[in-house]
Amino acid sequence: MTSHPFDTRTDALLTQLRKDGLYKHLQVLQSPMDASVRIRGTDGRPFDALCFCSNNYLGLANHPEVVEAGIRGLRDWGAGTASVRFICGTFAPHQEAEAALARLVGCEASYTFVSAWTANEALFPTACEPGDLIISDELNHACIIDSIRLATTIKKGVHKAVYRNNVLTGDRSLEEALDKARANPEVTGQIWVVTDGVFSMEGSVADLPAMRRLCDRHDAMLVVDDSHGTGVMGRTGRGTHEHWGMFTPAMSPAEPGIAPPSGVDIFTGTLGKALGGAAGGYIAGSRRLIDLVIQRGRPTLFSNALPVTVACSATKAVEILQREPQRVQRLRDNVAYARRRIKEAGFDVLESPTAICPIMVHDTAKAIAMSRRLLELGVFVIGFGYPVVPEGHARLRCQISAAHTTAHVDALVDALKRL
Ligand SMILES: *Cc1c(COP(=O)(O)O)cnc(C)c1O
Repeated sequence: MTSHPFDTRTDALLTQLRKDGLYKHLQVLQSPMDASVRIRGTDGRPFDALCFCSNNYLGLANHPEVVEAGIRGLRDWGAGTASVRFICGTFAPHQEAEAALARLVGCEASYTFVSAWTANEALFPTACEPGDLIISDELNHACIIDSIRLATTIKKGVHKAVYRNNVLTGDRSLEEALDKARANPEVTGQIWVVTDGVFSMEGSVADLPAMRRLCDRHDAMLVVDDSHGTGVMGRTGRGTHEHWGMFTPAMSPAEPGIAPPSGVDIFTGTLGKALGGAAGGYIAGSRRLIDLVIQRGRPTLFSNALPVTVACSATKAVEILQREPQRVQRLRDNVAYARRRIKEAGFDVLESPTAICPIMVHDTAKAIAMSRRLLELGVFVIGFGYPVVPEGHARLRCQISAAHTTAHVDALVDALKRL
């Protein structure tokens, strides 16, 4: 029997990944996500480890009220509608979640999807038209990159440009890309500038006020994917725009037809991180934009809604975030404490106010070995190397949560010291 070409080449690729030490083994959890998790060992026996690699920033993934809201959603509404939303697939809890999310980030309206990945793929190919230009930060999330590729592929004449991470003026900067666009006769439509609010590998923050000024000068729309910022950044966890003082809860949400007070035209975000951690994503923006996405978005028209259980859990997560701003404060205190302790222990940790603390170790194999040793010591931290980050920039990425106690952070630092 001969094997298919696919089998041969796939086996070769998998063998190469194993040889290069890049093969990923999925850790199986035998407990809910929390500050500490139970992991199935390679011998099949479970062991407990402190979790410093989840995006469960507010500790809501296993919050009793979030769980209960999901159970009630399942009981009251069943598993789903077995239909896309424009036919007969929209439940009342979808609209409740969307109103809550829009209010949270300060926009007129929002629309949910099964993931932030899908939300981004629904945005650019739908909102952009030939003659438009999308300008993107080089470190933007993979789904932004792919959604731009999709937009430029399915609509010929949509252009794209990339600027260096968070570099707003000078060589290969956002400003340079905007100036070039003005001189380009093919750019006749809308200019879009898109960035992560918080960069997932660096834990750095996009300079939104400066970006807003540049966008205003060029009539460009500012799009922020705040997946790592929502629930984390700003005094009340509204996101990276609150961190910069562009938006406060005292400001009323955008009024129909009036520019958003937040200075961010469009948000995309996830429900799979701070806001409950299940899955799901959203676009938030003007009523006009959301209408367009409902009318023309391909993921909207041809794919089912966010599961109603998740919509119910996410609405509850937003409610808890707003009811208990002390969670955000707790996270901020933990982040400051962890950064200080990790630095005192002699490690090179990138400075920032975000919950992502990358410890630079440079060498990929070393990062992976350190992460393996940490797990033996009861601390779950992932090492990232090439090709996720550039060669020579390998790191251990510690993610801090409001669920952690000071003792948990101390245990992390003790384990790091024993490496
Ligand atoms: C995590 C993340 C996503 C993916 O979110 P999903 O809801 O899991 O698809 C998208 N964008 C950014 C910036 C992220 O950090």
